[in-house]
Amino acid sequence: MPEGDSVYRQCKMLREALKGQVLESSDLRVPTLATTDLSGRTVMDVVPRGKHILIRLSAAPNADELRSGAEPLTLHSHLMMDGTWRVFERAGTSRDSGERAASASSGTSPAVRGRRGRQPYRRYASVRSRAEARTPLSADVSIGQGSHTIRAILRTATVDAIGFDVKDVRLVPTRLEDQELVGYLGPDILGPDWDVDEALRRLRAQPDRAIGTALMDQRNLAGIGNVYRVEVLFMTRTNPWAPAGSIPDAKLVEIVKLAHKLLNLNRDRPLRSTVGHPATGRPLFWAYGHYDQPCRRCGTRLKRGEIDDAAPSITEPRDPAAVQHLRQIAWCPRCQGADS
Ligand SMILES: [Zn+2]
Repeated sequence: MPEGDSVYRQCKMLREALKGQVLESSDLRVPTLATTDLSGRTVMDVVPRGKHILIRLSAAPNADELRSGAEPLTLHSHLMMDGTWRVFERAGTSRDSGERAASASSGTSPAVRGRRGRQPYRRYASVRSRAEARTPLSADVSIGQGSHTIRAILRTATVDAIGFDVKDVRLVPTRLEDQELVGYLGPDILGPDWDVDEALRRLRAQPDRAIGTALMDQRNLAGIGNVYRVEVLFMTRTNPWAPAGSIPDAKLVEIVKLAHKLLNLNRDRPLRSTVGHPATGRPLFWAYGHYDQPCRRCGTRLKRGEIDDAAPSITEPRDPAAVQHLRQIAWCPRCQGADS
């Protein structure tokens, strides 16, 4: 499940592959951007902001041929529950050809074979985790006939960066990033502007909200998803439904600092671990996903709970789609039974 750490890794992969490269073509498969042509623009940077991905592009090189505005643009996307960006090397690039020639003598091919034995792409070197590589490549990815989940393709001379199932694909002038895209976010846990005091201030500003809900509200602090919520609340023995205002200051500081520590620990790991040592094979958690299993601290059976992430805040009316925001959490009724 994409959270701040996985978005950070995705941006790192995209930055390594695209930064400084000129786009040969683009294919944005959302209705509002279907005719947009980003070719000729240079990728200036790829920046994570909470759980948002910002791909910053230069101004178009030739103002006379503009269809999407002359100024620098930012391509926004969000992974939500199951989106992912992947980078594939294009066949026939010099690096690919060289490696293929080298492997010919050993009898193996580094290329990923398409359905008809073609070798359209080789997995980009940075795509290492199973999750990131789980969708099989097919020969027709390149011409857009094969995968209905593709929402964006950015092509350079050497790679295709492809956004599968990415959500909220939008293009805005870079100067309006804050205004239109991410200005409402609280301090970014993995960002250069991380500000623990500001995050605490925002959490305290709504004392009646359940802490479990408040931690997920990206307006308070950006980057936490359901996994880290469950883990941080378990590790700090905090009841998920305790009103933020009932939690002693020292405990609230502990919660926020632990979230910061865990996301930073995991930001460069392909598999998450919150238990103190790196995970191999599968992610390692104290409580997340461990419903009905004994608490690793006290032995009590962990309970499955539901928490409503659309619960009304003080400043905004209830989201009419609230039912879609019910999330499953695991918690220990003994360790986390008290309100603080
Ligand atoms: Zn327990």
